[in-house]
Amino acid sequence: RRGRPLTVEERQGCIGMTPNAMGVVGNRRSTEDFEFGEVLGEGSYSTVTHVTTVHPPYRQYALKVLDKEHIKRERKTKYVLIERDTLKALDGHPGIVKLWWTFQDEWSLYYVLEFAENGELLKWIKKYGSFDLRSARYYLAQILSAVGFMHDKGVIHRDLKPENILLDRNMRVKVTDFGTAKLLKKEEMADGHPLDDPMGRPRTRSFVGTPEYVSPEILSEGRESSFSSDFWALGCVLFQMLAGRPPFQARTEYLMFQKIINLQYEFPLGFPADAKDLVEKLLVVDPKARLGGDPANGNGIEQVKNHPFFTSHIAPSSSPPVSPTRT
Ligand code: ATP
Repeated sequence: RRGRPLTVEERQGCIGMTPNAMGVVGNRRSTEDFEFGEVLGEGSYSTVTHVTTVHPPYRQYALKVLDKEHIKRERKTKYVLIERDTLKALDGHPGIVKLWWTFQDEWSLYYVLEFAENGELLKWIKKYGSFDLRSARYYLAQILSAVGFMHDKGVIHRDLKPENILLDRNMRVKVTDFGTAKLLKKEEMADGHPLDDPMGRPRTRSFVGTPEYVSPEILSEGRESSFSSDFWALGCVLFQMLAGRPPFQARTEYLMFQKIINLQYEFPLGFPADAKDLVEKLLVVDPKARLGGDPANGNGIEQVKNHPFFTSHIAPSSSPPVSPTRT
C-alpha cells in the first residue's frame, strides 16, 4: 500500500462495511469523512463550515471547528465543554440543533452539527423588515417548544436571540449556541435557580448573554439568571419579530443597561394587541413576576403557551407560514 494514502475505511478499520444512512462508515469520525464546502460563519473561537459526507447518501452537516490553542489561551475550555454537554443532554428535540458527533485531532475540536440551511432568524427579520402576526406566532411557538424541552432538562439557555435561532430547509426552528448555557443540578431544578456556593462564598456572576437581550436580574447586583431570564429574552425576540428591531437599543452598553433596568422601550404604532400584552407580561423587571417566571405557579412554559397571543383568531391564509411575509 506504500505510495498512496489510506482510505477512510482503511484508516478506520472498517473495510467492506457500507456507509449507514448518515453517510458515514464505522464508529470513528474524522475530517476525511467529509468534503468541505462554504464557510457558514465565524464565532469568537470557532469556524462553522458546510460539509457533505464523502459517502452516499451524501448527508450535509455544519462542522464547527474549534481551535484548541486559541481556546486554551482565551481560557474558554469551560464554554466549549458546556456547549457539548448541553447539546448531548438536549438530544431528541426537533427544535434544538442536533450534535451528531464530536472528534478531535492535534489542533482542533470538531462538532458535527445538524445543518440549518436557512441560517439565522435575524437574517429573515432583516430581509422582510418585520414579520406578520401569523409568522411571529409560528416561530415563537416553535421556539417556546424548544425552550420548554431544555427547561425540563434543567438547561437555562441564557443567550436566546434571533442570531441563535437557526432555520432548517423547511423553515423549522433549530435553537443553537449553548456555550453560555447553565445546566442545573437535580436539586436546583425546583426553583429554577443555580444553588449558592456550599461554602457560603458569594457566587461570582459573570455577565453572560448579549447586551440587547440580557435580563435586568443579570444586570442587578446579587441576582442570578434563572429559567425566567429565558422568558425575558423570548419577550425581546417576539418584540423584534414584529417591530423589526429589539426593544432596547442605545449608543452605549451602559445606556442600554439603564434602559433595560428602567424598562424603557416603546411599541411601534400598529403593534398587535395580543402580542403587546404578551411582551408586556414577559418584559417584567422582577423575574418572579414575569409570565412563566415563578416556579411556585407551576410550569412556566404552559403559562406562556396559554396566553391569548397563541389562541386568538388570525384570518386563515392560503399558504402555510413557512416563509415570513411582509407585514
Ligand atoms: P460566538 O462563539 O462568538 O458566540 P457564534 O455562536 O455565532 O459566535 P458559531 O457557533 O461558531 O459562533 O457559529 C458561527 C456562525 O455559523 C453562526 O453565526 C451561524 O450563522 C453559523 N452556524 C452555526 N451553526 C450552524 C448550523 N448548525 N447550521 C448552519 N449554520 C450554522
